[in-house]
Amino acid sequence: MSEHSGRCMCGAVTFVITDLRPDFGACHCEMCRRWTGSAFLGISVPADAIRFEGGEHVRTLQSSAWAQRAWCGQCGTGLWYRVTADSPMAKNYEIPIGLLDDANGLELTREIFIDCKPDCFAYQGERRTLTRQRVMELYRIDLEEPEA
Ligand SMILES: [Zn+2]
Ligand SMILES: [Zn+2]
Repeated sequence: MSEHSGRCMCGAVTFVITDLRPDFGACHCEMCRRWTGSAFLGISVPADAIRFEGGEHVRTLQSSAWAQRAWCGQCGTGLWYRVTADSPMAKNYEIPIGLLDDANGLELTREIFIDCKPDCFAYQGERRTLTRQRVMELYRIDLEEPEA
């Protein structure tokens, strides 16, 4: 696919994705819900397929034992979720689709922590869904840990 550009709200942090796969997922876990205000709609991008500018404005938080979240220190826009624990997922950035200058044509193919979703909204269509329990089993995450 062609290059896709994106940025935070204020434009201090910009990026270009060189290889964007069109499928993306929604996470309804409690942390993503609070972080985004609704659900995290994130597209998975290998680290070698994205280039950031304005890195000096990026702030990060180790938000759980296995993952990091980043935001723009100027405007507060959430920039990525990234697994830091030793895992095949650790090479990917999960980038909010709302940061893309053009997110048309992408496809929501999976929803995780579906049982944590408030009952006041739902995305259209059918797709793969995973409960919190199933996600924890798949990633062998200790259920005593806080959510992703
Ligand atoms: Zn910003
Ligand atoms: Zn989440």
